[in-house]
Amino acid sequence: MKRSLSEKVFITLFMPGVIGFYAIYKYPELLLGAGVDTRVLGKNLSFWYALIYTAVVCFIAAKVLVQNKNNYSFKANITQPLSSYQRKKFTSIFLVQLFGFFLIPYVFAPFFAGKNIWHDELTYASKSAHVYLYPGFKSWGMAVYLFAVIPLFVWFFGKRYCSWICSCGNLAETVGVTVWGKKWVKEGTPRGEAANKNHWIQFTVMVFAIVFGLVLLLDSMSVVAVSGLTAKLQAAQDFFVDFMFGSVIGVAAYPFWGTRIWCRYGCPLAKFMELSGRITKSKFQVAANEKCTGIGLCTQACPMGIDVASFAHVNKKPTLGSFGLQNTVCIGCGGCIDVCPTKALSFNNSLKP
Ligand code: SF4
Ligand code: SF4
Ligand code: SF4
Repeated sequence: MKRSLSEKVFITLFMPGVIGFYAIYKYPELLLGAGVDTRVLGKNLSFWYALIYTAVVCFIAAKVLVQNKNNYSFKANITQPLSSYQRKKFTSIFLVQLFGFFLIPYVFAPFFAGKNIWHDELTYASKSAHVYLYPGFKSWGMAVYLFAVIPLFVWFFGKRYCSWICSCGNLAETVGVTVWGKKWVKEGTPRGEAANKNHWIQFTVMVFAIVFGLVLLLDSMSVVAVSGLTAKLQAAQDFFVDFMFGSVIGVAAYPFWGTRIWCRYGCPLAKFMELSGRITKSKFQVAANEKCTGIGLCTQACPMGIDVASFAHVNKKPTLGSFGLQNTVCIGCGGCIDVCPTKALSFNNSLKP
């Protein structure tokens, strides 16, 4: 991958910055010493983490909306306006990130502390990494959210949750339409059969999440009494899944493997959505029409490494194919649709947003 000097400098600072920040955030006592006060200006690290994260996401989302250009185009001078789908998607990203992942848990919720049961549920739901699934075994609010609301959403909209709502996805979507981000997606995303074979990793992470959740549930009911099991599983979850996979590989490696490595190979919620979409026969589909000329830009734009073009043509002859959760890991970002110069692709479901 060809990189400019400024990009190289950015990567040199970005990788250790992300790893160092997450390391201090996750293991402050180990790195800074026991009893150290990690608060900055009276606020703990999770507040500053959420603030910086939200500022990056909202700044890029707002810029995309104000610039009003087809942000998936690979052209140097983009003249096409932002599609209505992308306008709605980036508006959703901006609002959900600002209110759902910052203002509500860190600014509004403290006002209600101790005043009603919603405070605890709301704070837990918005601060916990819901994508790990196991919180659904710890809180009734999270259980409803993860195991009822999400499957219903998937049935109608596929995995658009990943490109419109999820906090991890919000960063991936916004960074993915910057100049460097587009290149990282295009040239870094693993593609092809060999890359797809590794999807079993995500299945393993999902099984671990469910086992961990069940152990937590049984532990809370005093059924499991194996000394230290819960703590050991929590430590494994924190280090291997959250720190190493979700943070180091999932975010710090954006410049090398694109923006969706975690979403494609790690996130247990993604695998759960995929399976629930198959079981409920989700209505979500991307369909190709007769306009495909076989140039393959759609495949290059896909952050999930899907060979979109293979559904649209064979030897540059249109095939009118379609795909959804039954045969791909599509997150409904719409990148393949917007990058296609012949408008050969569209969403094909009964509830188009
Ligand atoms: S795959 Fe998981 S982490 Fe990625 S956007 Fe979807 S729910 Fe979020
Ligand atoms: S769907 Fe569009 S971008 Fe993809 S191969 Fe066909 S013409 Fe090219
Ligand atoms: S197939 Fe298209 S809509 Fe689905 S994830 Fe890839 S680029 Fe996004």
